[in-house]
Amino acid sequence: MSLLCRVCGNALGHSIFSGRLCGDTADYFDCLVCGYVQTQPPTWLDRAYAHPINRSDTGVMVRNRANCRIVLATLALLGRRRERVLDCAGGYGILVRMLRDRGVDARWSDRYCENLLARGFEHDGHPAGLVTAFEAFEHFTDPVGEMSAMFAQAPNLLISTEIVPHPAPPLDQWWYYGVEHGQHIGFFRRQTLKVLADRFGKRLVTDGRSHHLFTQEAVSPTAWRTTRLISRLLPRLYSIGLKSKVWPDFQAASRLP
Ligand SMILES: [Zn+2]
Repeated sequence: MSLLCRVCGNALGHSIFSGRLCGDTADYFDCLVCGYVQTQPPTWLDRAYAHPINRSDTGVMVRNRANCRIVLATLALLGRRRERVLDCAGGYGILVRMLRDRGVDARWSDRYCENLLARGFEHDGHPAGLVTAFEAFEHFTDPVGEMSAMFAQAPNLLISTEIVPHPAPPLDQWWYYGVEHGQHIGFFRRQTLKVLADRFGKRLVTDGRSHHLFTQEAVSPTAWRTTRLISRLLPRLYSIGLKSKVWPDFQAASRLP
């Protein structure tokens, strides 16, 4: 019986290639309807997540610095700088701490990773203006379910995941497959992201490469690109007028038992 696409439910047909992930053989499929490139249902994730932050993630700090900038730019564009941000799959809490340092009320959730830097700022169910999920969607076994849960928290969602080329490169010719750690099990194309946006009644704005915004606002791709460019040239601009939470957070933490 044919497997079904984990994004659109289409029957997947034949695999495009196979690989070895954490000792298991994994078939990869390319959905003809939505363009989602995906492994077979994974059986190796317990081994893949023995260390939640994989050892080969040398880009973790560079990425968090860039993401902090992009979140601030996006909040400015959406007119939501003073609203809460929920960082899903927040990892060690680096981004939440960086955003709070810049004055954004950021919170986190993560089912797998122990938070080291933003304990006390867990998501508490309070609605947010923006949900972020950086380098998370390629890990999800149920992207639609995860996205649904995120939109229950906020009307806007900013994610990062690398767009898979077309046709899908062989397994040894695209680093993002992550075969050395086995945690990446699904890869998106613009078309896949559009299917998801339509499903949730959102507008898709994407840089066509790594960062993708799902929003209810009338944000144009040009406006988003320009705002991100400005944030790169003037990295402090979009936190002007916000008050850093370094000191109030210290005070709050000091009162904790
Ligand atoms: Zn599909």
